[in-house]
Amino acid sequence: MPKHDIHILLAENNHPNIKAIKARLTGYNDLSYKFDIARTGKDILAKTDGNKFDLVLMEHSLSDINGIKVLDEISKRKVETPVIIIVEENEERLGVEAMDKGAYDYLTQNEVMTVALSRAIRRAIQRKKLEDDIKESLKKLEKMAIKDGLTGLYNHNHFKEILRHEYKKAKRHIEPLSCIMLDLDHFKSVNDTYGHQFGDFVLVKCAEILKKQVRDTDFTARYGGEEFFIVLPNTNMDGAFILAERIRNAFETNVFRKGAVSKTVTVSIGISSMSDNNVAGDTDLITNADRALYRAKWRGRNNVCTYEETEFEKAVYIKEEEEKIKDFSLKFENVHESIKETCIESAHSILRELNNGWDYINEHSLRVSRYAEKLTRGLSMSEEDVNVIKRAALLHDIGMVGINEKILKKKGRLSEDEYTLLKRHSNIGVKIIERTKLFHKELPIILHHHERFDGSGYPHKLKGENIPYGARVLAIAEAFDVMRSNSVYKKSYSPRGAVTELKNCAGTQFDPHMVDVFIKVVNKD
Ligand code: GH3
Ligand code: MG
Ligand code: MG
Repeated sequence: MPKHDIHILLAENNHPNIKAIKARLTGYNDLSYKFDIARTGKDILAKTDGNKFDLVLMEHSLSDINGIKVLDEISKRKVETPVIIIVEENEERLGVEAMDKGAYDYLTQNEVMTVALSRAIRRAIQRKKLEDDIKESLKKLEKMAIKDGLTGLYNHNHFKEILRHEYKKAKRHIEPLSCIMLDLDHFKSVNDTYGHQFGDFVLVKCAEILKKQVRDTDFTARYGGEEFFIVLPNTNMDGAFILAERIRNAFETNVFRKGAVSKTVTVSIGISSMSDNNVAGDTDLITNADRALYRAKWRGRNNVCTYEETEFEKAVYIKEEEEKIKDFSLKFENVHESIKETCIESAHSILRELNNGWDYINEHSLRVSRYAEKLTRGLSMSEEDVNVIKRAALLHDIGMVGINEKILKKKGRLSEDEYTLLKRHSNIGVKIIERTKLFHKELPIILHHHERFDGSGYPHKLKGENIPYGARVLAIAEAFDVMRSNSVYKKSYSPRGAVTELKNCAGTQFDPHMVDVFIKVVNKD
């Protein structure tokens, strides 16, 4: 029942009746009533305009038009206020007729003077509330059926509907039609590094950027996770290319900012157009845009490519050249690997130059890398992922360069403030390494190697499987090495002691499955 007064429009000719009705309705503690009086049918129609009453309680025999006619008029004017009609004794058939015309209920003059009145009002108001709730839910459902919940853009299903419709229209009127398919670059690493919440925030902002760039007549949809599709009616390929470049540029120059995080995310874009030579139906526009997008990624991302260009590039390839390209790529990949190795070695020697006593960190990193490799083998990870984790292990403590030496060399327990400063090393490490652009896969592992499986670690309090896989590997490898080494303020654990400690912390600090695998590997050794 509504908390406010129930506002009733009371339409009665008879003064004593009005008084009696008001008296009848007082004395209910949970409800209070407020009345307005209408003397004629016309008066009712004027006053109900705008739906400001909760209920109309109306006598059938009014002085100008009768109650049934008033109901007809009310329904014509789409007034939504519930109506209860009052009929003379023995005139119940009028009451039934009124209900057929939309009245919520009817009462005889005698019933009005009984408890039946308040019961009928309560029922009518409850029913109205229910009807309003249903209407509201239906509206929401309608919206949900075509819109994507996160970004508010059209969803995948509705996008297909739009494309079908626009394709037919363009064909019928012989008008141009183009499509843009857009995919965020390296978005997985955005999630891995800054968490899914930040990822979702980026997706919402992407929708805003896109909406700002397109015309009102264009249709922007979320095609999938971090993929968007724009249907451009009346636009040829050149027009689509200009827009795509503008969008690419808008992303390149935009910084997504939330809390302490500032991040640029680039996009790759594929364009298809009705004028492409193989378009025989609307779905070809999707396939072609997808192929062009793939090509844009292949070119190194942050790139726009049209389907026409992919066709052109295909035509200029001959077998021999493909072989040469493959050969070159392989050799170049090897060069890339050795650049990374050199870069890591240089990082370690720079550390050694900058501070005395960094030998410990360098040696520790080497041992952690070896333990991590053992665990990755036990977990049957791919060669590429093993290498990523090994490199992350070698770099994981680089950020210690930004921590005061007094804290690093302190004997005994760190104070809370000192510990807070020490914890910054993961973020500092990422900031330093980020600059080289060589280690984007290693970054999330380095950033999150001090997260704990129960969500109480740092820097982002990630929990369970939200912690990047490699970071969970590194956490175990690092802890094992710390336990096994003599440090300035504690003696090392025996191998058995370290294993017991890992077991004790499985599920709280460490991924329990990985602990099992690690213990098996260590025992074998
Ligand atoms: P590429 O440059 O090749 O596109 O790299 P990528 O990492 O963007 O590609 P990939 O397709 O492998 O990863 C897409 C990622 O998008 C996977 C998933 O983590 C993320 N993603 C998909 N949907 C959502 C979502 O609704 N919210 C968030 N936060 N992330 C999503
Ligand atoms: Mg992507
Ligand atoms: Mg994708």
